[in-house]
This record gives sequence, structure tokens and C-alpha cells, in this order.
Amino acid sequence: MSYVFTPVPVPSVPVVGKTERFPIHRIYCVGRNYEEHAKEMGFTGREPPFFFIKPATTAVVVDAGTTGTMAYPTLTSNLHHEIELVVAIGTGGRNIKAADADKHIYGYAVGLDMTRRDLQGEMKKQGRPWCIGKAFEQSAPIGPIVRKEEAGDVTKAEIWLKVNGQDRQRSNVSKLIWNIGETIEHLSAAWDLQPGDLIYSGTPEGVAAVVAGDTLECGVAGLPTLTVKIA
Ligand code: MN
Repeated sequence: MSYVFTPVPVPSVPVVGKTERFPIHRIYCVGRNYEEHAKEMGFTGREPPFFFIKPATTAVVVDAGTTGTMAYPTLTSNLHHEIELVVAIGTGGRNIKAADADKHIYGYAVGLDMTRRDLQGEMKKQGRPWCIGKAFEQSAPIGPIVRKEEAGDVTKAEIWLKVNGQDRQRSNVSKLIWNIGETIEHLSAAWDLQPGDLIYSGTPEGVAAVVAGDTLECGVAGLPTLTVKIA
């Protein structure tokens, strides 16, 4: 096999305790999956889960104990942070039942669903796709993956984010509207999940803007902290 040009390398995430890396296939994101965040976005009640996708190449992969760098993106003056628990899929499938979802999970990581909120808001108003607000370059920072067996019970873990040392987001994964199993059930009804898929499971309340020079430190209890500086 030869190509007309050198293909972009497969983006991949380190796995704690292993030399092999986790190759990213797709990045799925769940919208408005914590009640207090849905409220701050102007919505209430339990909607059916909905999804959007970021290209795998938008991942900013940050090794444990290091600070990653994300360039402040173009076209926005309202770049928001969204701390999220990321679920890494190890075994694919379609029409997976919530009760069987755990078998498909490889591990977990801490991720940021960075958002050009002004552009997303404009697209919402016009009923247009969110891509420009969500799926831009470097919009998906992620820390190392911890294998499921070693991650503890992430379903009841504290989830938090600080900007320049100040608390911005703090909640608990138990407050997800659609839990991980239910999310996988809905997602796998719409797409064929593949090994290498990442699911950004949604953000709790407290989303707000960052500017160049800010340092974001965020975590989910039991997983390595993710630190990203906005350049
Ligand atoms: Mn999000």
C-alpha cells in the first residue's frame, strides 16, 4: 500500500502502566448531561441524550505530570472550558444495552470539551450545526487513560476544574442525567461503536471563559489530573 502523500499519524493516548498507546478512532460528545449545566444553558428537564462529534485530530494529548498547550482558537472571543469524564471504548458494538455496556469499556480519562461559545450560540440561534463551535483545532484536550480495573468507581467520583488555581467547576459524576451505560446504549443505537472511540460524557455547571495565558487544571477522582495552558 502506498499513498499519494504521507497520511496524518493516528492520534493516540497513553495508557497508565502500559507502553502500548490507545489509538483514537472517533470522539463522541454528549450534550447537556448534567442538570445544573442544562439550566445554566437555558434548558430544564431530562431530554433524550444528544451527541456531536469532534475529529480524532482535535485531541490535545497530555502526558501525566506535564502541562499541555492549547492555542487560543481563531474566530472566537468566548472560549469556554467544559471538564468531562471521558469513556474509552475497547470493544465495539451496535445496539449495546446499558446493562452490557461495561464490557465495552476499556478505561477512563479526564478531558476538556473546549467550546467557542459565541459561535455555538450563533449556530443554535440559526438552527445550524455546532461544528464550528465545538469541533475546531485542539478542542479536545485529554489526559492519560486509566484501565477500567484500576480506575475505581468513577460513577461516583468528584469532577472539578480550576482556572489559575480558582475553583470554576465542581460536581460529581453521579449527577449525570444519562449515566455511562445509558449513554452507550443510546450512542450505539445511532453509530457502530469501534475500539478506539472516546465518549466525552458531558460537563457539570460552572462553564466560563478562559483567555490566553490561563492555566486549566482539572480532574476526576481516581484519574490523573489534566493540566492545560492556553497559549
Ligand atoms: Mn461538553
